[in-house]
Amino acid sequence: AIMPVEADPKDMSVGYGGRPDREGVVTLDACIMDSEGNAGSVTFLQDIMHPISVARKVMEETPHVILSGDGAKQFALEQGFDSVDLFTDQSRKEFKQWLKEAKYRPVSNIENHDTIGLLALDKEGHLSGGCSTSGMAYKLHGRVGDSPIIGAGLFVDDEIGAATATGVGEMVLKTLGSFLIVELMRSGKSPQEACEIAVKRVIDKYDCKDIQVGYIAMNKKGEFGAYAIQAGFSYTVTSAKMNEIFKAKSFFTQ
Ligand code: ASP
Repeated sequence: AIMPVEADPKDMSVGYGGRPDREGVVTLDACIMDSEGNAGSVTFLQDIMHPISVARKVMEETPHVILSGDGAKQFALEQGFDSVDLFTDQSRKEFKQWLKEAKYRPVSNIENHDTIGLLALDKEGHLSGGCSTSGMAYKLHGRVGDSPIIGAGLFVDDEIGAATATGVGEMVLKTLGSFLIVELMRSGKSPQEACEIAVKRVIDKYDCKDIQVGYIAMNKKGEFGAYAIQAGFSYTVTSAKMNEIFKAKSFFTQ
């Protein structure tokens, strides 16, 4: 489910066609977690179309959880992934335009940052998840967001539930949002309540007027929820019975 988004040149915040950092380098973050508590992650990965698949290989083929930068790329090449130019004509054009002013400012819901986050419940009732992003457009070279950090951008506990994040990764990292949501579900909160508490934790601590953070969560029963700081966060629920896009509730409503 994550790979088609990574390969989509029109999605400019994930994988191929993702916006570069301020040095003009596309750097990708992704992680994956399965129902047995195994996890794999890549950070600051360059020139590889499917960071989620490399994260999976880290999980399955190494004793480690995170590989980063050159080491992650070297590992990917050894695993048979191709080195590709991740720029598209559009992302190159926009970067050249951005260089004229070179101002760094994340703008919520104007697609200069986004993530594909996925939570899955299989037919035996086991949970897993993954997320993948090119991070904040025009970020500092070397910046790593929440998405490859287990517990921040994604957390899965097959006894309880799973959660994943999008938005300004720094806020998610500083509050360990996905782990927090799973722990809240462990203490009896519904996925919806847990997402709301995690978003409010960010709002209570930081100035969030212009910042977006959104979470989705699902528990063992397949109950799901979502909440965001700003309006405009939507998510899709797909099962044998439904395939529906939902608009998440948000703290600010306009
Ligand atoms: N969380 C991602 C990051 O900070 C960006 C996003 O999901 O909007 O890299």
